[in-house]
Amino acid sequence: MTSPNPMPISAAAKLIRNARHVSVFTGAGISVESGIPPFRGAEGLWSRYDPRSLELTYFHAHTEESWKVIKEIFYDFFGKARPNDAHRALAAMEREGLVKTVITQNIDNLHQEAGSRSVLEFHGNSQMLLCLECGRRRPAREADLAVLPPHCECGGLFKPDFIFFGEMIPEPARTLSFREAELADVFLLVGTTGEVMPACLVPEEAKRNGAAIIEVNTEPSNYTPHLTDVFLKGKATDVLRRLVRELGIDFAPDQEQEH
Ligand code: NAD
Repeated sequence: MTSPNPMPISAAAKLIRNARHVSVFTGAGISVESGIPPFRGAEGLWSRYDPRSLELTYFHAHTEESWKVIKEIFYDFFGKARPNDAHRALAAMEREGLVKTVITQNIDNLHQEAGSRSVLEFHGNSQMLLCLECGRRRPAREADLAVLPPHCECGGLFKPDFIFFGEMIPEPARTLSFREAELADVFLLVGTTGEVMPACLVPEEAKRNGAAIIEVNTEPSNYTPHLTDVFLKGKATDVLRRLVRELGIDFAPDQEQEH
């Protein structure tokens, strides 16, 4: 295995400009600068919380306890996060016709809030709750989370509408994500380790189909040695601000976030 040469931002911009179909694949790293930590690592959420709260069998056996953790992480904490310049830059690239679709492993809704329209949520979205009895979906902001666990009008238990460990990937997001991996001739990875199955197979599939892989990350990931053609080392906001400028896109950065 050889490490890719660190290539300048201009090489990435050239690949994107000349591409027919650019798809983006994002992970927890793109939302770190919005204040949402990733799951893993020293500062990750699992250093503070028990990941079993997101296992379906544990959730059913310890519903109130699991819901307390879920509320704290996903509703008290995630709920306050705003999109950052990396989310906004990807939305600007879509508006310019330079990005077809964002496939995200994140469940924080920040791509949509930034203005991206074509978003495939591989792991679902925390904004909605799903009734495990009648299958009804309801916006989490309308639910009373003061009393846990929350229940539907039918009496059924609400679960966040993102997937827990071991659950099936929702359709049509799964099929459409692999379709993107077939269609794309450039695949842009942002802030993902490539450790989460089966999501990590999507970029692998794109590479197998001949896509050039551009990767943005603060450090090398599982993809970097064998998949990545252009590695853009740095924070997602810094790198994507530079990339949109190089692409000639009119983009007003959020001054508060620009360091
Ligand atoms: P991960 O936690 O495994 O890895 C995060 C990656 O982001 C790392 O490679 C890290 O080097 C990189 N990174 C950290 N800060 C960065 C920055 N400022 N700019 C660019 N890159 C940065 O994340 P993952 O691979 O996405 O897997 C974790 C799973 O957990 C995901 O599938 C996701 O569903 C879920 N998750 C979601 C959120 C969210 O919705 N925001 C948050 C935590 C976890």
